[in-house]
Amino acid sequence: MGETVVIMGGGVIGLSCAFELQRRGHQAILLEINRCGGQASGAAAGMLAPFSENVEGPDAFFHLGKESLRLYPGWRDAIRSISGRYFEYSDSGSLYIAYHEADRLALEGRLLWQREHGSSGVLLEGDELFRKEPLLSRQVKAALYTPAESHLYAPDYVEALEHACRLTGVHFHEQLGGLEVAEWRDAVVVQAKDGRRFGGDRLLVCTGAWAQELEETLGIRIPVYPIRGQICAYEAEINPVHHMVFSNQGYLVSKENGTLVCGASEDVAGFDTTVTERGIERLRNWNKQAFPFLAEQTPFHRWAGLRPSTQDGYPLLGPLEESGRVIMAAGHYRNGILLSPVTAKAVADYIDGIKLPEMMEAFAPGRFTY
Ligand SMILES: Cc1cc2nc3c(=O)[nH]c(=O)nc-3n(C[C@H](O)[C@H](O)[C@H](O)COP(=O)(O)OP(=O)(O)OC[C@H]3O[C@@H](n4cnc5c(N)ncnc54)[C@H](O)[C@@H]3O)c2cc1C
Repeated sequence: MGETVVIMGGGVIGLSCAFELQRRGHQAILLEINRCGGQASGAAAGMLAPFSENVEGPDAFFHLGKESLRLYPGWRDAIRSISGRYFEYSDSGSLYIAYHEADRLALEGRLLWQREHGSSGVLLEGDELFRKEPLLSRQVKAALYTPAESHLYAPDYVEALEHACRLTGVHFHEQLGGLEVAEWRDAVVVQAKDGRRFGGDRLLVCTGAWAQELEETLGIRIPVYPIRGQICAYEAEINPVHHMVFSNQGYLVSKENGTLVCGASEDVAGFDTTVTERGIERLRNWNKQAFPFLAEQTPFHRWAGLRPSTQDGYPLLGPLEESGRVIMAAGHYRNGILLSPVTAKAVADYIDGIKLPEMMEAFAPGRFTY
């Protein structure tokens, strides 16, 4: 007999967990105060880049991201086939660029440890680099090429995921305005503003940057904070940039729909999603430094989203207390799109009584003290 799981939050994390639980025979009830995919998940650039996003060393977060990337092709195929919807998924590979010798040395160091952990990356310079990415600035000294990294078109992915959830029987309740967790110790009851009550065997918290709101109710520290990401897109000729291009200041990625997406700022601005001139100007300066042809162009679309960052940079992923009545899956910061398959698998495995790998202990929600 499957369990009934009440899920708070309809971003990529809530939807992924709902999909995985539903297809394993559970009943997911998804509660969203607004509309699904309307926050960080719909704003994302869609890069699946655990090697480029982890520059320090092979910690638990790197392994989680790498595992999620490994799961992606099967996950993508399942969502595409169950939803009947196509979403862009490109195995473009990435280039992490450096302008100075010190940065080039840092890339060399990174390559050494990443090669020990499955990267087939190489350091490219000169003609070899410019053949791969012809419009790249000649000021770029070197780049770390990582063929294993991919990207997808996040708004379409999230929509397909939602559709797959609906077709597999997830119960959706959107535009609820506000929710209160009325009971969570012996049973789960969540009450909406209009008085409707939703009951289940478990509560799964996937409320992204808003997760901290449940601190008092659940009686634990949930140090999740919003970090605004401002991002923009140029209208591009077909694929002027062939890879995802990263530097320590930003990234650029070409999409099939003829846009060139460039992100993103990291602003401490509370829950404000305003796009500022200053934020976009910074991106534009970086863009034209990396790709001089962009000096003549103006982004036609600008937007912002709130990344759920955490005190230690790791998500809160796993049961809250021994009974496992409440499970957290929040705080995926810059990598929620990448981490969606592995998060869904971890949550569903836990509910199915499958022992989670030891590395998951690094993400235990109870790790923060007052
Ligand atoms: C500009 C930008 C670029 C990004 N690029 C990438 C990228 O390239 N690759 C990548 O992997 N990640 C990227 N990210 C990060 C990624 O978008 C996030 O990590 C991910 O979307 C988090 O998903 P989520 O479901 O936790 O949060 P969200 O998508 O924010 O969803 C949370 C949901 O919970 C709802 N909610 C809030 N409170 C409640 C409540 N009390 N009850 C019910 N529902 C509630 C909200 O309305 C919202 O719909 C980017 C983010 C930004 C902003």
